[in-house]
Amino acid sequence: MAATHQADKEKIKQEHEATIRETMVNSAKVFVTTSWDFIHSKMDTERGRRFFKEILHSIFFHCHIYRDTELNRQSINPEEILGETLQSELAVMYPDVFESYTSLLPRRSPFSILLEVVVETMAGRSEIDIRTELEKLNNKMIVHKSGGSSCGNDFCFGATVVSYSYFRSSSLETQKYFGASMSCSGRKATRIFISVACIETWNDNVAHAVCLAAKGHPSITLPDTVYSTAYRLHPPKKGGNNSHEYKELSPCELCLKIFPNVTFSSLHKKDQDKQFWNYGNCAECEAISNLLNGQTSISDETQELNASLEHNLEDLRAKRKNILRGHLNRFNFTVTPEARFYNS
Ligand SMILES: [Zn+2]
Repeated sequence: MAATHQADKEKIKQEHEATIRETMVNSAKVFVTTSWDFIHSKMDTERGRRFFKEILHSIFFHCHIYRDTELNRQSINPEEILGETLQSELAVMYPDVFESYTSLLPRRSPFSILLEVVVETMAGRSEIDIRTELEKLNNKMIVHKSGGSSCGNDFCFGATVVSYSYFRSSSLETQKYFGASMSCSGRKATRIFISVACIETWNDNVAHAVCLAAKGHPSITLPDTVYSTAYRLHPPKKGGNNSHEYKELSPCELCLKIFPNVTFSSLHKKDQDKQFWNYGNCAECEAISNLLNGQTSISDETQELNASLEHNLEDLRAKRKNILRGHLNRFNFTVTPEARFYNS
């Protein structure tokens, strides 16, 4: 009896694992094909091709680190995602992506890259138009399972929040800059990508702010005044029109600690979920990083405002590199943070 019960449990576990893998594979495939279609229709240029390669590399990396000995998971390789025909076509067009996804790190997650394409192709950077386009893309990337049911895409799931931020003073009002929450599948990938962002991707001031807050230190001060607004993506309602929808969202407590003097557009306590994520997971970080990278004078002013902070960025980054090295070693990944990042 006991043996049968054990066998049943094992069978359920295997079926559960198979479903998770199937969702990941299908998420990766539909993300690749939807991004390809979108980029070809909106940005059929060398720049567009570079964005597509960056997306492809980031997805392959995610699927490579799917490997997990504790859970008995094997890496998902490009052929499993794309099928033989598409895999060989893309391997001829972009050989460097296929050669480097196991040896070079991506700088950001696939959804962050796609968001940049959407923002660049939207005349006037209207946040309503951008949200509408993202809703449409999310609808196209719903994953259909073999049993007939469907679910959200693994690579969009983490990016349920998008945010925009801008700076306004008596003499300057900047355009809006956008960012997404960490669109990674699983905690392991999310931790890796937050560390990568702190080491390599984000503006130095944002990396400094996230590292300080994560260590419980007082964070940086931004020049007056940076404004921030965030939206959460809500999945299709049952019996509704089968469409995603963005609704405004208050910042979480972690973001209030990372950016203590930012003016957030909505501050309702009731919106705030229990925070089970890490410092740096939120869309606000990428949006404010893009604002500072796009506006050098504001970034320089931020640097000056925080020059005398006790814990400097260099030391905090060195600790982050250790954390990242630990994550990568644990998953038997042959890359170190000192190794390079993929350039599309
Ligand atoms: Zn937050």
